[in-house]
Amino acid sequence: MLNILFADRIENWPLYQAPLQAALAEAGVTARLCLPDDLPPSEVDYIVYSPRGPVQDFTAYTRTRAVLSLWAGVERVVGNATLTQPLCRMVDEGLSRGMVEWVVGHAMRYHLDVDFFQTHQDGVWRQAGHVPPLATERAITILGIGALGAACATTLAQLGFKVTGWSRTPKTVAGVTCLHGADGLRETLSTAEILVTILPNTPETTNLLNTETLALLPKGAVILNPGRGNLIDDDALLAALETGQVGAATLDVFKTEPLPPEHPYWAHPKVTVTPHIAAETRPSSAARVIAENIRRSEEGAPLLHLVDRTRGY
Ligand code: NAP
Repeated sequence: MLNILFADRIENWPLYQAPLQAALAEAGVTARLCLPDDLPPSEVDYIVYSPRGPVQDFTAYTRTRAVLSLWAGVERVVGNATLTQPLCRMVDEGLSRGMVEWVVGHAMRYHLDVDFFQTHQDGVWRQAGHVPPLATERAITILGIGALGAACATTLAQLGFKVTGWSRTPKTVAGVTCLHGADGLRETLSTAEILVTILPNTPETTNLLNTETLALLPKGAVILNPGRGNLIDDDALLAALETGQVGAATLDVFKTEPLPPEHPYWAHPKVTVTPHIAAETRPSSAARVIAENIRRSEEGAPLLHLVDRTRGY
């Protein structure tokens, strides 16, 4: 009998308990789900982890075979010196669907110029000059075409948008122009009417969007950031919004969360703030990912979604 420790916020236990039990049974894994007070750390075989949970020091978890994150982003644990066990991040169908819906929804808002009509409800029939272009005439760039970025890129391409994706290493995504490296970044930014950032938080991605890179965008480009707050130099973005170099931004993630009430983004007329809700891990689908990884580990198969600790994601 395996001992699996649930180490997310205790409020989430009622959401995960039944789905995890069902998924473990379905995967043929015989296990006991536990909370931290139920057993000593030395008896825990697997940890279902989130950075908001009670376990941040892994030293005493001497027989733990893997730490299975409920989050896709692992920047808060990847550098934890006490973590010597393998770390897997969450790649979950529910998470991907949520991200696709958030990105497509906010991209469509700008593509169709919804805000223009919303602010001109004054009885004037403004038709001329306000027919939106077709998606086939609109270029969207996605920085980061991993599990989430590729799902968004694929859906936007299926809608007809001219989609370019950018990653660290060469990639192939059907219907998407894939670029990588520093030259690829310059090339893709220069055409991005809508720019979506779905990169992980690493030293290499910090302030990737800064004065210099924002200047490469076509004037009036729109930015959607559901990735991480570290990706954007906030002062540079505010300056670019002021000059009109950036036309608008919808931001879901921030360097400090919750975004402090006095932050200029809240009151900015060209910024929409959403409170880190672009994509939530969904218990039923995530539980199946966790159970599958435990099954694989017990059978000696390679773990899925293993984090590369040196790369940082
Ligand atoms: P992933 O599968 O690991 O994909 C990451 C992508 O970023 C890959 O394409 C990777 O390139 C690229 N990348 C990483 N570092 C790069 C660099 N220095 N230069 C260029 N490209 C780089 O991650 P994911 O599952 O798609 O998740 C992405 C991020 O979304 C997470 O890390 C998290 O921060 C964020 N997220 C946000 C929410 C939310 O609610 N707002 C929810 C979930 C996740 P390679 O493929 O070449 O390695």
